[in-house]
Amino acid sequence: MTNIDYKIIVGLEIHVQMAAKTKMFCGCELAFAAEPNSKVCPVCLGLPGALPVMNRKAVEFAILTATALNCKVAEFTKWDRKSYYYPDLPKNYQISQYDLPIGSNGFIEIPVPGGATKKIRIRRVHLEEDAGKNIHTAGPFSQVDLNRAGTPLMEIVTEPDLNNAEEVKSLAIELQRIVRFLGVSEADMQKGHMRFEPNVNLHIKKDNNEYKTPITEVKNLNSFKALEKSVAFEARRQLDNFLETGECLQSGNKKTFGWDDIKEVTVLQREKEEAHDYRYFPDPDLVPVVVNEKWLSQINSRICELPLGMQKRFVSDYSLSDYDAGVLTSDKATADFFDSSVKAGGDAKRICNFITQTGLKIANEKGCSVAELGVEPDRLAELAKMADSGQVSATAAVTIFVEMTQSKEQPGRIAEKLNLIQKSDAGELEKIVDEVIAANPQAVEDAKSGDKKSKKAHGFLMGQVMQKTKGTANPQVVAKILASKLKI
Ligand code: ZN
Ligand code: MN
Repeated sequence: MTNIDYKIIVGLEIHVQMAAKTKMFCGCELAFAAEPNSKVCPVCLGLPGALPVMNRKAVEFAILTATALNCKVAEFTKWDRKSYYYPDLPKNYQISQYDLPIGSNGFIEIPVPGGATKKIRIRRVHLEEDAGKNIHTAGPFSQVDLNRAGTPLMEIVTEPDLNNAEEVKSLAIELQRIVRFLGVSEADMQKGHMRFEPNVNLHIKKDNNEYKTPITEVKNLNSFKALEKSVAFEARRQLDNFLETGECLQSGNKKTFGWDDIKEVTVLQREKEEAHDYRYFPDPDLVPVVVNEKWLSQINSRICELPLGMQKRFVSDYSLSDYDAGVLTSDKATADFFDSSVKAGGDAKRICNFITQTGLKIANEKGCSVAELGVEPDRLAELAKMADSGQVSATAAVTIFVEMTQSKEQPGRIAEKLNLIQKSDAGELEKIVDEVIAANPQAVEDAKSGDKKSKKAHGFLMGQVMQKTKGTANPQVVAKILASKLKI
């Protein structure tokens, strides 16, 4: 393989389905997996004479997202028709936003390896409606389901600032966190709520010249894995193609590829159409949107702390690892639950362990978030304090936490009920230690000997005490007493 100097250049387009109750321009309900063509009306069926009405909530969601992505929000915007013919688009045009997107010139910060972040510029955020769905699985014919037609979508377009497949994936995941934190999308990949289209090419340095390979767009990727793999694949394919043919970027040689999920290869679909092919023009049926200051500030008062900022705060204020902070901020409910528990007085690392090592597992099994397990943050803080003070062992604390997800009782009551309170009473424990010492002269001798055997013998004596107390003795206290009795 030739050692060749090249840079991968990727810009990403993302379609995000909004968590609105109804469609973009009609009152039809947004329902996943409903009976085909049961959620339709004259507007989304594209019947003649039907008039669209804008979904105000969806516009607010897009403004919220644009603001969170540091975009300039347009004071005046309008709706445009993007004309094309396809069976799942009965109107023969999609209502979108062309030259006046709701948001423009922003940026998103994404995590990159080593705990650092990278700024990726956002070119635009606009609103549009989804098309229906063609189904080709029923027999030697195709079917069209228009339930999805008119679903409110946000299209987010980045500048080509991404330089490898991992960064592309990182951006996708970060965007998922952001829209979920904002509550503007469920961003459920299984339901197709996020679809990705990377535009990929290479800048190659060879013999003091720079060459650019033709840009290819990979259409309609609906998983992080497919996104990452397709970008990596395209980079390799383009490099091979360049080395073989020397083909370079010219106007008009953009290509559209699909992704074969099974073979894990990109497949050429068609040569790219240009914007003028779509014959964009303002939709005469819809009034333009004026975003005045009052409305904008009302919307923006709903902005919450964003996930990456929160992750960084957990690292700096609570001394968590970046990894742990990332797990806790993967959804807002969990992050808020953790934060509240720490603010209620629980040790951050211990609360983090409760949540990441036990809570998430139970929540997963129940199909809910950690915050919905029925444990109040102040109760979890209480439990953390009990473990810190040695009232209960770390293992017992986990048992109590699990029990707390099943009963409404206080951790202290549960500990008593399950007999998990550690004996820390020195007088009582001293008696037991004395009994153990009297009953095990050989082990005592070995423990005192100071050679190889002593560590093992010491462990044995500790174990005897723990057994006699049915595991309820505070090991730190026992170790102290034992050490003083054996004079080691
Ligand atoms: Zn409708
Ligand atoms: Mn689009």
